[in-house]
Amino acid sequence: MTKKLKKQLSSFTLLPIVIVFIFLVVFFIYSIKFNNHFFVVILATQFVILVFLIFLRNRFLQQKTVYDLQEEDRLEEINLLCSKVEKEDFNKESLKVRFEDYSKLKILAEKLSLSETRLEAANVLTEQADELIGKNDATTILYLLDLETGEPSMISSVHNKAKVNVKSKKGDYLDRWVLKKLKPLLVEDIKSDFRFDTTQGISKDGGREKRSLISIPLVLGEKILGVLRVDSPNEKRFSMEDLRLLSRIGDLGAVAMESAYLYERIQDLAVKDSLTGLYLRRFLMDRLNSELPRELRSKSDLSLLVVDLDYFKKYNDQFGHIAGDMVLKKLSEHLVDIFNNPGDIICRYGGEEFVVMLPDCTKIQAKKLAEDLRKKVEETKIILRREKTKVTVSIGVATFPTDAQIKEELIHKADQAMYQAKRKGRNKVCLS
Ligand code: GH3
Ligand code: MG
Ligand code: MG
Repeated sequence: MTKKLKKQLSSFTLLPIVIVFIFLVVFFIYSIKFNNHFFVVILATQFVILVFLIFLRNRFLQQKTVYDLQEEDRLEEINLLCSKVEKEDFNKESLKVRFEDYSKLKILAEKLSLSETRLEAANVLTEQADELIGKNDATTILYLLDLETGEPSMISSVHNKAKVNVKSKKGDYLDRWVLKKLKPLLVEDIKSDFRFDTTQGISKDGGREKRSLISIPLVLGEKILGVLRVDSPNEKRFSMEDLRLLSRIGDLGAVAMESAYLYERIQDLAVKDSLTGLYLRRFLMDRLNSELPRELRSKSDLSLLVVDLDYFKKYNDQFGHIAGDMVLKKLSEHLVDIFNNPGDIICRYGGEEFVVMLPDCTKIQAKKLAEDLRKKVEETKIILRREKTKVTVSIGVATFPTDAQIKEELIHKADQAMYQAKRKGRNKVCLS
């Protein structure tokens, strides 16, 4: 009830009393003056009415106070209910957002679990992070630490749902900050953030400007895997909520990345030699099975090289088995350097014997590559206990389909050519 209304009410109850009182006074004066009994009776009656009216007024006021108090209580209850409703609405809204986030994270987890390689997992992670954070002016970048050097290296970057080329392949000072502190980072405006020195022109990356950013370290137990960051050319684009979401995405990503890595390792162990990292014989045989019919169809040549270290037993006897292993590793590196065309398969066929499969490669081309390898091995100095040592290789070349029609025959022909090289004095390339 408003104050104005209350005032009106109380003046309304007071007015008849005042009128009656004035009336009484007039009657009183009149009856005293004319000594009239009838008026005395009327006066007495009116006095009683006046007393009754005063009583009624008091009752009314009492009742009104009770109603006022009740009304205030109701108002308070209404206010409480309103704020409760507001709070419920807010909770409902944030629950809705959270539910949506969780269902998106569930989809992310499912997609990640299907990734068999680190690269696949990295691509899924960056694409999904870009979509979930949902800022169309932002770029999402994933840096993974190189397993050997420990240096960050960019593996995947997405801008507005599409792959994008980012020049900063090793990351910048912000990524190093995250890797060093192993803490999530939210920067509202790089230019005014006291933690970073922007005078070095580091907010730009080959024309790609960065003003705000969220970034998290990818960590699994004690192992640091890399950094996942989302940056924008505009300031204040990210909130704490975004950073929290990115952390959850990163947690899932780290697990997926590690399991993909372990899966790759298991796959490698099944098909690759642990000393040299080259394929094992079984893998080569499988590839030859699928490759030879393809070469026949496309009417192109496939060349095969058998590479064998010369006098390797002697080398082992002289310098020891560990030194011998070093030679095998070095030779593998040369093989990988020289035979680097897509489809080339290098395999450790036996102890110190290697086979290289070169699809779409003529005998002449294969001979040239074999010569390159032979020279490179011959020129390589292996330092052992300050002593310069060296090895040589003998190489045999055979080509499908001219020299052989089936894989066993092809290997046999290349092996025969290799033994011919041995007979000719070693450190030679012979053709079938
Ligand atoms: P040739 O010029 O006729 O090929 O002589 P060779 O001594 O290389 O040939 P041989 O077949 O007699 O000896 C091969 C040697 O390779 C024997 C073995 O000690 C060595 N070898 C095989 N596998 C490994 C390995 O994994 N590590 C080391 N260090 N040596 C190995
Ligand atoms: Mg040998
Ligand atoms: Mg041999």
